[in-house]
Amino acid sequence: MPSVTPAPVHEPLPVLGRDVRVPLITGGETTYAALDYAASAPALQRVWDDVAAYAPYYGSVHRGAGYLSQLSTDLFENARRTVAGFLGCRGDDQVIFTRSTTDSLNLLARAVPDDCQAFVFETEHHASLLPWRRVTYLAAPRTPEQAVRTLEQALAGRPQGPALVCVTGASNVTGELWPVSELAAAAHAHGARIVLDAAQLAPHHPVDVAALDVDWVAFSGHKLYAPFGSGVLAGRSDWLEAAEPYLAGGGASRRVARRADGGVDVEWHGGPARHEAGSPNVIGAHAIASACTALTEAGFPALVARERRLTAKVQEGLARVPGVRVLSLFGPDAPRVGVLSFVVDGWDSSHFAAALSAEYGIGVRDGLFCAHPLLRAVLGGASDEAGECGAAAAGPGGRSLNAVRVSFGAGTPDEHVERFVGAVGDLVRGGPRSPLSRGSAAPAPHLRPLRVPVPGGTSGR
Ligand code: PMP
Repeated sequence: MPSVTPAPVHEPLPVLGRDVRVPLITGGETTYAALDYAASAPALQRVWDDVAAYAPYYGSVHRGAGYLSQLSTDLFENARRTVAGFLGCRGDDQVIFTRSTTDSLNLLARAVPDDCQAFVFETEHHASLLPWRRVTYLAAPRTPEQAVRTLEQALAGRPQGPALVCVTGASNVTGELWPVSELAAAAHAHGARIVLDAAQLAPHHPVDVAALDVDWVAFSGHKLYAPFGSGVLAGRSDWLEAAEPYLAGGGASRRVARRADGGVDVEWHGGPARHEAGSPNVIGAHAIASACTALTEAGFPALVARERRLTAKVQEGLARVPGVRVLSLFGPDAPRVGVLSFVVDGWDSSHFAAALSAEYGIGVRDGLFCAHPLLRAVLGGASDEAGECGAAAAGPGGRSLNAVRVSFGAGTPDEHVERFVGAVGDLVRGGPRSPLSRGSAAPAPHLRPLRVPVPGGTSGR
């Protein structure tokens, strides 16, 4: 990691969209409060500026003899080095640019040896839960210690052969931190490897691959204030080098020749290029590197301290509102990032989220957050019926099984969380002020015209 002296962060880091005004169903408009960072965080102003500074020099990567091609290639390879530093990678780790965390974990799932057994807690996000060919699912633990014990028992009882544990660093539902280094130690003690899903961890906390002793890490640019379609898989090269390329095509192939029998012989590249076929997303990689540098320079200790303060405000505020239950696996005092999900007695979560949006200009998310088994574990549901990532499923007694999630980070001003806490209290105590916010099939925002002052963005709704 570059050596910088972190400046104290008392103010939010500048992000795009902080002055955007949105219409309210109750009349007038307000400044938008983006409290859905766990889905996609706004771009850091710094990232936007760095992308804009590069844009005139944009060119093809690894392909052209022209000056801008050379410059773009250099920028792309520099981005790899910046990300390696940000993640505290070991010298021989690879950094592969992908589209997202989902893409990174699917790449790894294709690269593991054929007989590799994956071990995954049922509480994982679907991106970590679903890509594996052979997989053992582990029951939801109720403490970090129980997670380690459960993993140890499962690994001890497994047949010989390669094994991979996949675990999230911070839950996208509860925000709770998982005991990553303890799980890594348990995995390694039993001859298994471990990949860290850092989609929610990396934007909030330093991730140190070498210190945590994880074999791979995956994260997404759009949750790390760099919404330009890039993600990262970083870690050990041996399985990656031994695997067939994730995508077949140019860039991954070193030499291709027709065979006498009519087919083709292909010699594939080694290194990151092996799994990066096609023209790489240089703007996405540059944006991620810019975000990594910006967060490093701001200093994680200060960012974490500020986020803890915001988290405490939300926790204390929600605790004062009757009928609000914050979801948790590890208990109310578990260390967490700025991600909290909750349910409100007597409210359907989608209507609650719709009322926050329509009446207060607050953007949160509702649903099952692409973690259906986890939602069932924390809500006590038993239904097999599940909607899409965002949709509600039927819970016990036909009650809808969904929650509201509020999430924030380095760009969040205090006013946003204060408005949110106030709005929750007002809605619970006073009820919705708009007719469609409650008890209706259609969430309230449909009543407002969606007007976006950008070319191609104006809707007649
Ligand atoms: N893992 C976790 C913990 C997540 O929160 C998410 C996104 N919600 C993902 C993986 C998938 O990320 P992406 O959609 O960027 O692929």
